[in-house]
Amino acid sequence: MPSQRAFRIHCDETGHRAGIETIDVPEPVAGEVLLRVDYSSINYKDALGGTGKGKVIRRFPITGGIDAAGVVVRSEHAGFQPGAAVIATGHGMAFDHDGGYAQYLCVPGDWLVAVPDGLDTRTAMLLGTAGFTAALAVHRLLRNDQRPDMGLILVTGASGGVGSIAIAILARLGFEVAAVSGKPDLDAWLKDLGARQIFGRDELPGGDRPLEKATWGGAVDNVGGDMLARITRSVVPYGNIASIGLAGGSELHTTVMPFILRGVSLLGCESVHIAQPLRGQLWQHLATDWRVEHPERLLGGEVVLEALPEVFERMLAGRTHGRILVKPSTAA
Ligand code: NDP
Repeated sequence: MPSQRAFRIHCDETGHRAGIETIDVPEPVAGEVLLRVDYSSINYKDALGGTGKGKVIRRFPITGGIDAAGVVVRSEHAGFQPGAAVIATGHGMAFDHDGGYAQYLCVPGDWLVAVPDGLDTRTAMLLGTAGFTAALAVHRLLRNDQRPDMGLILVTGASGGVGSIAIAILARLGFEVAAVSGKPDLDAWLKDLGARQIFGRDELPGGDRPLEKATWGGAVDNVGGDMLARITRSVVPYGNIASIGLAGGSELHTTVMPFILRGVSLLGCESVHIAQPLRGQLWQHLATDWRVEHPERLLGGEVVLEALPEVFERMLAGRTHGRILVKPSTAA
């Protein structure tokens, strides 16, 4: 049986450990597809799982990586033929099923999306779960009647994967975007992506009253905690907040006043279990009308499997930006 290199994560009575191992290339059974992974990427959840700092993995040992894009080499699924370029994100990847930090990935074909015209496997992973989730947030905002004339949309965790892509999509759709970022050295980059204004993490106006001046048309929040609580108090009537992440904390201390006196909506965004039809539609948007022009602008680094532990630590410390590609086939 052929073998491959994979970034494996263990957690047992001796504790958490992770690193590169040689494992068998899996054989696809009925309904499954085997792909050669061209690119994977690093998302915040990968960093939580890869370091053991977040309980986001259910089955051990497991190959990490919630994202992969590559080419089908064997298929036991009628929808995908060898040679097809495909994207796999979410579902059980790096949760209870091996993920994309390996040279080959075997998944149910029902999890896959064909790489749409306009994207290739590299640009698909420059977007990855981060881009898909940014698209999901935009979808949720638009479905709940968010309009550019309602005012500035805040994007928190702006320099991160989700944040940077959300800025680009919203700007493309005619929204005025205000980025909230802890990295003042990236102001020019955030403006190039489409941010009109930039606030430091502690610079948002408004205090701690249940309702503050209605300032923001809406928000895409990757940070949670006090940041999200603060934003809820200052959104205009019927504005929307898409809640995506917890990079700053998972608790939310606010009151119902913004919801019952201003009709503000808090829209949950969960990218893992999205039904395939919507998954396909969002990827189609990312390839066409919501396309990030010059996607290489998103690139914050390109690494091999050996570099993962170091990048995970930097990401959890908030010291990465943009999107980080992983090339599993390249050895250090
Ligand atoms: P990144 O690490 O790429 O971006 C997170 C950004 O948040 C950082 O770049 C930083 O931006 C900011 N940040 C980091 N630490 C802190 C802190 N302590 N306080 C305030 N801001 C901080 O992660 P992703 O973009 O991949 O993910 C963003 C969040 O969204 C994560 O919490 C992730 O778990 C979540 N997520 C959820 C998904 C879902 O399905 N709901 C899917 C994908 C992601 P800056 O320095 O510019 O402020």
